[in-house]
Amino acid sequence: MKKLSIIVPCYNEEEVLPLFYEEITRVMAEMKRAHDELCFELLFVDDGSKDKTLEGLRALAKQDPQVRYISFSRNFGKEAGMFAGLQNSTGDYVVVMDADLQHPPSYLPQMYDYVRTGEYDCATTRRVNRTGESKVRSFFAMQFYKIMNRISQTEIVDGAQDFRFMTRQMVDAILDMHEYNRFSKGIFSWVGFRTKYIEIENVERAAGTTAWSFWSLFRYSLEGIFAFSTAPLSIAAFLGVFSCIISFILMIFVIIRTIFFGEPVAGFPSIMCAVFLLGGLQLFCTGVLGQYLAKTYLETKNRPIYLVRETETIQRGREQDN
Ligand code: UDP
Ligand code: MG
Repeated sequence: MKKLSIIVPCYNEEEVLPLFYEEITRVMAEMKRAHDELCFELLFVDDGSKDKTLEGLRALAKQDPQVRYISFSRNFGKEAGMFAGLQNSTGDYVVVMDADLQHPPSYLPQMYDYVRTGEYDCATTRRVNRTGESKVRSFFAMQFYKIMNRISQTEIVDGAQDFRFMTRQMVDAILDMHEYNRFSKGIFSWVGFRTKYIEIENVERAAGTTAWSFWSLFRYSLEGIFAFSTAPLSIAAFLGVFSCIISFILMIFVIIRTIFFGEPVAGFPSIMCAVFLLGGLQLFCTGVLGQYLAKTYLETKNRPIYLVRETETIQRGREQDN
């Protein structure tokens, strides 16, 4: 028997949960018919939802023995949700996918075919267009991939999604990366392994709303840059050297001018400009340094990435006690 764990992080997904469950059970049945050796585990991670997601998961776990869930003590973010899922999965193969059907379960059989033969360790989808997304968002996303790939050694594929079909070996490699500041797109790529990209059209959410605002995406992209590149530090150093050279040239110029033409009193505005410019540059560079220091600070605290409040086994125990 080969077990396939399907990990689904959920945050306020009560509306799509029944739709997702219906679709995934259909696909699982289809895969079972084609490959008798397969068995499944559906592992939902409730990321501190404020709606009825957890109630929905409890009900599903009761009626379907394939369903397991982990519920966090609060919202820890999707990255923590994926990590918890990977850590608690028991399958020989592991899939990570969104609950909102933007990652169509119908691709699973095809992904399995790529990984099963051993030719690939991972199959993932890559969206080739961004229809249904605002122009501004697409523009910034494109700029992010451009900058990121220029300054980081880790390649981040444009349009790559967190919809991944992986072997146990690759999952274990990912779990070996315990970092607190997690940027999955970078982590998936950093561990390497052979990845098959399946190109798909952008799919819109089946129901509910996205939890990502423009600013949360912006912060997430900075997170990615600071986690997978030290280029901002080099930029800071470069700016420092650059302004030193400029001021050195200016100094020579001023000395020579004073020798030949004396010292005129004028020049206050230009001095102010230089003072402000240098002050700004210094603050900017200190800020960049501060970012890395802050990340290092959080990493050294070694806090857990997520905290569990309930799982299907804990819930069963509680029910028996009552
Ligand atoms: N999600 C999560 N925790 C969060 C935000 C989102 O577990 O804090 C889940 C969400 O339930 C969904 C997936 O991550 O299954 C992707 O989120 P969403 O659809 O809101 O993002 P988008 O598809 O717009 O990037
Ligand atoms: Mg979505």
